[in-house]
Amino acid sequence: MPSRATKRGGDRTDLTSDCDVLVCGGSFAGLAVARALAGSGARVMVIDRYELGERQTSACAIPTNWLGALRLGAARLQTFGELVVHTPGTSGRWPLPQTFSTFDYRRLCEELWAQTGLGDGAFETATVTGRTGTTVHTDRGDLSARLVVDAMGWRRVLSHTMGVQPPRAPLSRGLEVHSAGRGAEMELWIDRRYVRAGYGWSFPAGDEVRVGIGSFWPEHGVKAPTVRLAADLGRAPDGYQGNWIPHKLRAATEDGVFFVGDSAGHCLPLTAEGIRTAFYFGLACGRELRAVLEGRASTEQALHAYGAFSGAQARKFGVLLGLQRVIGQLTGTRAIAAMVRALENPHVAGRLLGRYMSAAAPTAALGAPNWS
Ligand SMILES: Cc1cc2nc3c(=O)[nH]c(=O)nc-3n(C[C@H](O)[C@H](O)[C@H](O)COP(=O)(O)OP(=O)(O)OC[C@H]3O[C@@H](n4cnc5c(N)ncnc54)[C@H](O)[C@@H]3O)c2cc1C
Repeated sequence: MPSRATKRGGDRTDLTSDCDVLVCGGSFAGLAVARALAGSGARVMVIDRYELGERQTSACAIPTNWLGALRLGAARLQTFGELVVHTPGTSGRWPLPQTFSTFDYRRLCEELWAQTGLGDGAFETATVTGRTGTTVHTDRGDLSARLVVDAMGWRRVLSHTMGVQPPRAPLSRGLEVHSAGRGAEMELWIDRRYVRAGYGWSFPAGDEVRVGIGSFWPEHGVKAPTVRLAADLGRAPDGYQGNWIPHKLRAATEDGVFFVGDSAGHCLPLTAEGIRTAFYFGLACGRELRAVLEGRASTEQALHAYGAFSGAQARKFGVLLGLQRVIGQLTGTRAIAAMVRALENPHVAGRLLGRYMSAAAPTAALGAPNWS
């Protein structure tokens, strides 16, 4: 893991590229792609506008089995076997079919980077501004590679056909504060007093608690309700971090480029869980790239196979988007309170939450010998 800070000013010297794979974006999706290329002997370069692990992009809660499967347990902070869900009239304690854990973002990036087997020179801080073919334009010069991956999040920077402009794009939005303190419960609020369509959360993570609001409707502001929820919980509104969250699946390939994670709309609608899917599709993308590097597939075949793999998940994403719309409309009604109580039943929770959790499972991502 490179330990220097993001290069600034005069340190941002011109970059030259001499690589097989250029991964743009060094967060969950980009690092999963690079990890899948470990030991391939390929010349891989990862670039990000910030140093690895410098800017946390989420509340960092993930099914614990993913941390185990990727050998990232050292980053784990707290583990929860239940989710406590509040509505104005009632609260329910949902037994989770698999535990969730919060983790330390920087530590997780360090661990993932170590697993890529790439040296310090394989990572550079550079801001990507666009591309011409597979030549990527950055503030430090142009970089060309045989295979190019956009893992730069919701903006889909390397797309020529999809302008993602909030609030008119299919995006949710999220904001959270990181308050010093401790907590024991992983909690959600489905409550119109905080957000008209969406939810609030409180995720304890060691010596801080991550409290935030996600709105399914991009035009609804999330700052005031985040501050309000934090105040109601007696937490200080410190350390803001927020972002737009794509809630609609997008094409995973375009004009010779592989898109992974939020850039491909891989974040799950309704829950805005996008870390495990970034891992899942990142590993899938990496395996297709590997097939090209090892001469088992052409670039076109890899693009086709990866695009088809991602597209095959469209139904699951569509169902969750439908649920997001319905639950958004029903927020504040008795139906939501009834749902919260129903999911306290271990059989109901096991069936419904178990089905949800089975999507993008680590066994499916790591177990398959060949993705094509
Ligand atoms: C407040 C909030 C809380 C969330 N909590 C959770 C959660 O608890 N669990 C969960 O599963 N999901 C959560 N999500 C969703 C999750 O954060 C995303 O789905 C996930 O981060 C997607 O990973 P990614 O690697 O595709 O993109 P990102 O994590 O967004 O990473 C993109 C990377 O690209 C870099 N980049 C962007 N633009 C450029 C550029 N022009 N040039 C160079 N580099 C660039 C960025 O610096 C960044 O490192 C949350 C989202 C928000 C907003």
